[in-house]
Amino acid sequence: MSIGNGTGEDQRYVVWLDIDNTLYPRSTRIADLMSQRIHAYFLSMGFTEEDANSLHFKYYSQYGLALRGLMKHHEIDAQDFDRKCDGSLPLETILKPDPKVRKMIQDIDRCKARVWALTNAYSTHANRVLNILQLDDLVEGVFFCDYADPNFSCKPERDFYDEAMRVAGVTDASKCLFVDDNLNNVKAAKALGWGSSVLYSEREEGNAMKEHPHVEGVDAVIGRLEELRLVWKDIFVETSS
Ligand SMILES: [Mg+2]
Repeated sequence: MSIGNGTGEDQRYVVWLDIDNTLYPRSTRIADLMSQRIHAYFLSMGFTEEDANSLHFKYYSQYGLALRGLMKHHEIDAQDFDRKCDGSLPLETILKPDPKVRKMIQDIDRCKARVWALTNAYSTHANRVLNILQLDDLVEGVFFCDYADPNFSCKPERDFYDEAMRVAGVTDASKCLFVDDNLNNVKAAKALGWGSSVLYSEREEGNAMKEHPHVEGVDAVIGRLEELRLVWKDIFVETSS
């Protein structure tokens, strides 16, 4: 990896792919299973149902990640939280590799762009998902939330994006192309001057293709992940299909 500025820096784009509910469909309902586990964690801390619901919502809305709020306001062991929440998800029975997604990522021209994952999950979950989806060999690196650090940052905090760029060795924000299913995360990247910030708003199977709504503060909205081929035309290899 080439790090630095001036002549030593890799001039290619960096494609940053969110993982959860982006590389696999939201319709898998994994997000619901995660939510149930996080709720159970709040209950195990002694909160009532009502307080668990409101704090979970508050922390997620305020920090982009319930765990971030738990770390800020309560003394919890983030890795214990991760084991009981993401770590206990039956991902192997729910997730399946999608050949269309794999082919799409494969078709990103590596002479023009490098591919990284950018996730609010811990490395254990991130790597597990990439492995089950059979996408792990297609990403150069995974930038994840370091739950081992009590002051870890996460999307949509500026520090998280800045550190991701540093680790990937890119100093020019306009070289960063980002897709995520969370509007706040996409808007944050756009506000930092990332070259392209795309919101993935999953279109249900069977729904006809229709015009995407204009969303303030993002560059594009896609309904299927493969539509990145159209949004980022210049970085894909020519394919006959
Ligand atoms: Mg996501």
